[in-house]
Amino acid sequence: MAEQKRDYYEVLGVDKNADEAAIKKAYRVLAKKYHPDMNPGDKEAEKKFKEASEAYAVLSDPEKRRQYDQFGHAAFDGGAGGAGGFDFSGTDFSDIFSDIFGDFFGGGRSSRTRSNGPMKGANLRTSVRITFEEAVFGCKKEIDLTVKETCKTCNGSGAKPGTSPETCSKCGGKGQVVFTQQSFFGTVRNVQTCPDCQGTGKVIKEKCPDCRGTGYIPMRKRYSVDIPAGIDNGQSTRMPGLGEPGINGGPRGDVLVEVIVGRHPIFQRQDFNIYSTVPVSFAVAALGGEILIDTVDGKVIYDVKPGTQTDTKVRLRGKGVPSWRNKDVRGDHYVTLVVQVPDKLSHEAKELLRQFDAVTGDSLNAAKNASGQEQGSENKDGKRRKFWK
Ligand SMILES: [Zn+2]
Ligand SMILES: [Zn+2]
Repeated sequence: MAEQKRDYYEVLGVDKNADEAAIKKAYRVLAKKYHPDMNPGDKEAEKKFKEASEAYAVLSDPEKRRQYDQFGHAAFDGGAGGAGGFDFSGTDFSDIFSDIFGDFFGGGRSSRTRSNGPMKGANLRTSVRITFEEAVFGCKKEIDLTVKETCKTCNGSGAKPGTSPETCSKCGGKGQVVFTQQSFFGTVRNVQTCPDCQGTGKVIKEKCPDCRGTGYIPMRKRYSVDIPAGIDNGQSTRMPGLGEPGINGGPRGDVLVEVIVGRHPIFQRQDFNIYSTVPVSFAVAALGGEILIDTVDGKVIYDVKPGTQTDTKVRLRGKGVPSWRNKDVRGDHYVTLVVQVPDKLSHEAKELLRQFDAVTGDSLNAAKNASGQEQGSENKDGKRRKFWK
């Protein structure tokens, strides 16, 4: 657990901007080199093989890669507030291997091995629009999903009531057929999913009229989804077990709900920090004073220091976005104070400003004189007096 994990890009020896093809190529080289079949009994090779496979599983999946780029290994530590929280138990490494090895052993995708054991169903994706504040503090949203429910007429068997599925004659119920193929490496025996029963080992002679033999009926249903605090635009939260039905008794896949966060009129967000600009009147900037600043927690009073210049940056600690991992840890809110130069002035205001200018002009001169006098009083050697004469 405590072992330091290497960076996935480093593991594969690719650049952070590497494209899909480059990542696949890098993994192929490593997988071929460290594959347990090529290095029997070599624990170090096995470790390297697993490490590379894990890195590839993440970097070859655009969504996981994005999460990893943003949060590093923490993205998959679980406990990430329910969002992300990827664990590798759900990653079908056999898919990755058949994808990779299928390619270099000449079989291509069609030679993918499928047993008729239980398999998890596919994940479904949907999206939901939320506001800036909802993303910051989390929310509950209703979403409508079309979910395949077990057909009540046939209890999911797909066979017409009164009949039952029969053992597939092509594969003898194994769900796989073996065929030989000529390839670059010579004759290759390939195991393929049985085309007659699609790997189930059973065929339905008379289909259930309600589900047309699929065993499922699509139903439109409304679900409530918990959007965790701190989620950002484009990230997804997972609803386990609502995806496509599993195959041969396997568990259902999940539903991934991507959030689309609306723009906020005042706030911008970058990771866990919030940014905004606040106007400050010329008088308050010069004299100091209290101003109200909008934050996601409501208005806060801020004490502007006398002589504040425009573009002064202020940090409001802990007024940013909560972290997924720990709601109590929050980013900061950075405020840029913009001093307003008045552009529509009444006659009276203009007059006052002229007076102000005259006074400050005088005071500048007065300051010069004061320093001159001080210098004069320091040099009481007569030189100064001579000069004045
Ligand atoms: Zn049915
Ligand atoms: Zn079959």
